[in-house]
Amino acid sequence: MSSGVARYEVQGTIAVITLCNPPVNAFSHSLRIGIVDGIDRAEGDPHVVATVIIGDDFGFSAGADITEFEMTSVTAEPNLREVIEVIENSTKPVVAAIGGNCLGGGLELALGCHYRVAVAGAKLGLPEVKLGLIPGAGGTQRLPRLVGVETACNLIVSGVTTPAEQFWGAQLLNLFVEERLREQAVEFARLVAAHRKTHRRVRDLPVVHEKPEAFFLFARNMVGAMAKNFPAPMKCLEAVQASVKRSFDEGTRVERQLFGELMISDESRALRHLFFAERYAGKAADIGEDVRIREIKSVAVVGAGTMGRGIAITFLTAGIPVVIVDTEQDTLDRAMSAIRQTFEDQVTKRKLKSDKAEKSMAMLTSTLAYKDLKDVDLVIEAVFEDLSVKEAIFLKLDAVCKQGTILASNTSTLNLNKIAKFTKRPQDVVGAHFFSPANVMKLLEVIRAEHTSPDVLSTLLKLARRIKKTAVVSGVCDGFIGNRMIKQYVLQAMLLLNEGSSIQQIDGALEKFGMAMGPFKMCDLAGNDIAWAIRRRLYAEDPAMPRLAIADRLCEMGRFGQKSNLGWYRYEANRRDALVDPLVNELVREERNNMAIISRAIADEEIVQRCIYALVNEGARILDEGIAQRASDIDIVYIYGYGFPVHRGGPMFFADSVGLSSVKRTMQRFAETSGPTAGFWKPARLLEILAAQGKTFN
Ligand code: NAD
Repeated sequence: MSSGVARYEVQGTIAVITLCNPPVNAFSHSLRIGIVDGIDRAEGDPHVVATVIIGDDFGFSAGADITEFEMTSVTAEPNLREVIEVIENSTKPVVAAIGGNCLGGGLELALGCHYRVAVAGAKLGLPEVKLGLIPGAGGTQRLPRLVGVETACNLIVSGVTTPAEQFWGAQLLNLFVEERLREQAVEFARLVAAHRKTHRRVRDLPVVHEKPEAFFLFARNMVGAMAKNFPAPMKCLEAVQASVKRSFDEGTRVERQLFGELMISDESRALRHLFFAERYAGKAADIGEDVRIREIKSVAVVGAGTMGRGIAITFLTAGIPVVIVDTEQDTLDRAMSAIRQTFEDQVTKRKLKSDKAEKSMAMLTSTLAYKDLKDVDLVIEAVFEDLSVKEAIFLKLDAVCKQGTILASNTSTLNLNKIAKFTKRPQDVVGAHFFSPANVMKLLEVIRAEHTSPDVLSTLLKLARRIKKTAVVSGVCDGFIGNRMIKQYVLQAMLLLNEGSSIQQIDGALEKFGMAMGPFKMCDLAGNDIAWAIRRRLYAEDPAMPRLAIADRLCEMGRFGQKSNLGWYRYEANRRDALVDPLVNELVREERNNMAIISRAIADEEIVQRCIYALVNEGARILDEGIAQRASDIDIVYIYGYGFPVHRGGPMFFADSVGLSSVKRTMQRFAETSGPTAGFWKPARLLEILAAQGKTFN
């Protein structure tokens, strides 16, 4: 049901329409009706000389209600365009009183008013492009009439939010006030009604630019190069260009046409999906908002290696004091100077002010003694991936830490239930799986062990927002959500290599699909030795397990990836470019001969389908087992942790857009031609069910 009301009252001779639809005053259907009713009442009341539209406590308006996008109510009359027309055609002047956020449809409505008054702290913007859209209620036609073509293009193409004061002095704002918005807007409305005979409509202003053709040619080149997989930025330009070339009515027709095309585009659907996915992620479905959150005022990081350092930087950046622990003073000293260096690099790159860097470093201490951890609120363990090492540490933590301290492990593969059992407080144990580099990567998998208490889980999820991470809850399994799936993806890449594709073809095909880097480059980055160690353990446990002969030989040659400057590619010192190494291609040929494989030509389409559907099938199992709470959580893991292309919305959303029965049929086709690995393509139970019912994951 649509919510939101527009309160109508008359203050002397001024009608005041107050938008009230928490939390952001989105223009729901009922709010739109309320605004039109308010304007009609003001028009019909002979005592009213002007109207002020103002937001309640939640800012002016953040625009369209995107929860309505998939519903019929979004187009139900009056739509926003019609509301704005009613305002613009009102015979009595209408003043927008802008405080807080005035975004998207909110700004479009304000542009339809005859005057705009803004208060300090107000923010303006047309962020539709971030959802793969263009403004659809006249924004692309009215904004250039007030701020000029170039500024309008900048604002609309970038979708940035700008403080209102930056428009003070431009035509966009008629008055800028420091405080008392409502009173001053009402007073302003009284004055314009008394002293002006006519009240100009923005639509009647000319659009002026000296050399529009040259400007748009330049803008198209710039935007085209940056927009890549997203059509919306170019359509923004097209719409603004229409404001220059055509009449207002024709321009709005162009805008509407482009908006409609984008609304049904795959890219916009993906972006809208991710907008909601991000809001759902980080919420435990079975835990209420009322659970008491533990206060985190200090953190200890155990292990001052790659991950420990990145985790420490993350907390320090968020203003949370950190004590870092390791076994040798030397290791601690190296970690301290590496952390300092990272902050200094940020200062050099002007990403951080030097006083902020100093402040962060002042909050960092190091110690060899566990007793120094007795008062911390949270410990994150990031030592070697070895259960016996972790056991020793959790025993110590249990002995020294105060009651209520949250004990988290950054393990990527070990069983968290076992780790929790090393303590007498399994309810306080949780997984905090950061991704490398921990101070850069946005994803945090929060692992809920068997006995993790709801308040511990909720505390970590809330903390994730404070340290600017996007958290996703995962249950306990080998590799959790992300790494468990990536194993299947990499396996397919290896099988494709066996069968005849080249390393470069496989990486190239997946990069063309949009992955930030192909699987072989990814393995080189992560370190080939890690997967090799796991494989050797599995070979020992199960001698019948098929060998990945090429990958094994690569590791036997010490080609561990970027860290040894040699892997699937070769690397030059201090450079990241992956250079083709003919030696590896020769090795591939040799191993194919050893395996008596007659290589075949494989199309890029097959490469993409096999690797991505491998992710999808494992994702379906993860969902079915309840390891992930929602398909959209899996999408978030892949977007933020594995460089999955944003315009495809994540692996599960991508499979939904292809159609699950089509995905299943393709997998069956692969099974028929996969010989000994046919079992890989057995569709997950959930995929079977949804495909049969014509349903989707999301
Ligand atoms: P690392 O080898 O770089 O660092 C481990 C650190 O732990 C070393 O400084 C070592 O001296 C210290 N350490 C060992 N035993 C200790 C003890 N008893 N007390 C205190 N310190 C001790 O390892 P890393 O790559 O930072 O990985 C750490 C953890 O993070 C592992 O569990 C790993 O699985 C996980 N992880 C790693 C990555 C990654 O990409 N490197 C990503 C996610 C999670």
